[in-house]
Amino acid sequence: MATMTSPAPVPGPQVPSPEPTSPDSRPHVVILGGGFAGLNAAKALRRAPVRVTLIDKRNFHLFQPLLYQVATASLSPSEIAYPIRSILHKQANTTVLLGEARRVDLERQEVVLTDDRIPFDYLIVATGTQSTYFGHDDWQQQAPGLKSIEEALTIRHKILYAFERAERETDPDRRRALLTFVIVGGGATGVELAGALAEISRQTLRQDFRNFNPADARILLVEGGPTLLGGYPDRLTGAAHRSLERLGVEVRTDTRVTGIEPGTVHLPDEDIAAETVLWAAGVTGQEIGQTLGQALVRGGRVAVEETLALPGHPNVYVAGDLAMSKDKRGKELPGVAQVAMQGGRRAAKNIVRTLNGNDPQPFHYFDKGNIATIGWNRAVAEIGPLQLSGFLAWAIWALIHIVFLIGYRSRITVALQWAWAYVSRGRGARLITGTPGHDVTEARVLTSDATAAD
Ligand SMILES: Cc1cc2nc3c(=O)[nH]c(=O)nc-3n(C[C@H](O)[C@H](O)[C@H](O)COP(=O)(O)OP(=O)(O)OC[C@H]3O[C@@H](n4cnc5c(N)ncnc54)[C@H](O)[C@@H]3O)c2cc1C
Repeated sequence: MATMTSPAPVPGPQVPSPEPTSPDSRPHVVILGGGFAGLNAAKALRRAPVRVTLIDKRNFHLFQPLLYQVATASLSPSEIAYPIRSILHKQANTTVLLGEARRVDLERQEVVLTDDRIPFDYLIVATGTQSTYFGHDDWQQQAPGLKSIEEALTIRHKILYAFERAERETDPDRRRALLTFVIVGGGATGVELAGALAEISRQTLRQDFRNFNPADARILLVEGGPTLLGGYPDRLTGAAHRSLERLGVEVRTDTRVTGIEPGTVHLPDEDIAAETVLWAAGVTGQEIGQTLGQALVRGGRVAVEETLALPGHPNVYVAGDLAMSKDKRGKELPGVAQVAMQGGRRAAKNIVRTLNGNDPQPFHYFDKGNIATIGWNRAVAEIGPLQLSGFLAWAIWALIHIVFLIGYRSRITVALQWAWAYVSRGRGARLITGTPGHDVTEARVLTSDATAAD
């Protein structure tokens, strides 16, 4: 068992100025997860008199808001994923470990990894969420979710491969099924996927096939609730709905999928022959939340105190999507990047406050707004009292995403890709690689610098 005074050797560049640590008496803060919450927590501790260990099961931070662009062949994985070690390499008090946490042992104050135990004085759990199929786990095989690079590549493969197979298919019914795409879930991810798929079929692939017209592809967006983009103002949900319909997407609200099997999606009033089904309907907290000694609340999340501390455990914080936190009026905060970033920072600051003998402060979320895109030049945005739709909303969306991407290289390459795509309506990452769910491996993606190939 490695201890934190002699961590297991991890490949990669070393921390530049090793801290004098033998023995190291500084309090040890362990952060689980290098997503938006974990990373911001770590950065907020850079000058604190603590030693920080950030543990993630992946060696990269993933910019999930742009995953759908990898899934729809606009961007390559390396443009939205960045090695955590590189992000924190200048932070001398922080060690990054690659490892998967299985549970938290609150009694012994240790994080239990698959192959190790890491003791902590303070802990921030920020492991995020995963797709949930609401008790129908068998649907996962047919309808991949969009939470990881592997899933994005699987989706990309499914979409592009369906068009390829349609070119060879002579049976009209089979071809129709190949050109039918069903997206389950009309939140931001579902809306973005549907808009992008419509543009792929109506614009990008317009001249690429001889035996069928890609514009005949049927794209259905199925939402169980009464509107798309639940939580947005009515004016914007209506605008999103109309924009999608103008792009040729069939939108079905108040419709719950009752079954998914190979080649068929069952709706209450119709069975749809569809080879490609994509899941954007729900997420639930990562399993580690179940080991924190609390009954989980809606969405498999962990209810936290207003300071983000775990009830009864003032040295353990939960931040980001895994935490169920509320605003001043008692309304649940959404699982979005801003909540995660601000929550991670609040948890870190509360640890510092406690070390300085001060009381931790409540988490007050500053809502900077919500934006969802619908294709290349439309979006809906709610920013304070402003409700925008159309090109201006899209321009703001593009700017924000460029600014928040990590690394200058990503910012420049993504900006260039978008500028080119905007004028050409093309999609630069249209290569079919691997077999869905099999040989599209994380290792391949991460060792490749060739953006086009991945
Ligand atoms: C497709 C998609 C589109 C989105 N679009 C938007 C958007 O437009 N705007 C917006 O604000 N938000 C958006 N979101 C939501 C946003 O990405 C999340 O709110 C945010 O990522 C949450 O941050 P987090 O740090 O809590 O979790 P994550 O970012 O998910 O990070 C969790 C980290 O924990 C690691 N981890 C998980 N389990 C373990 C374990 N057992 N051991 C070790 N490490 C572990 C993971 O590898 C990951 O790095 C989108 C999400 C998705 C999936």
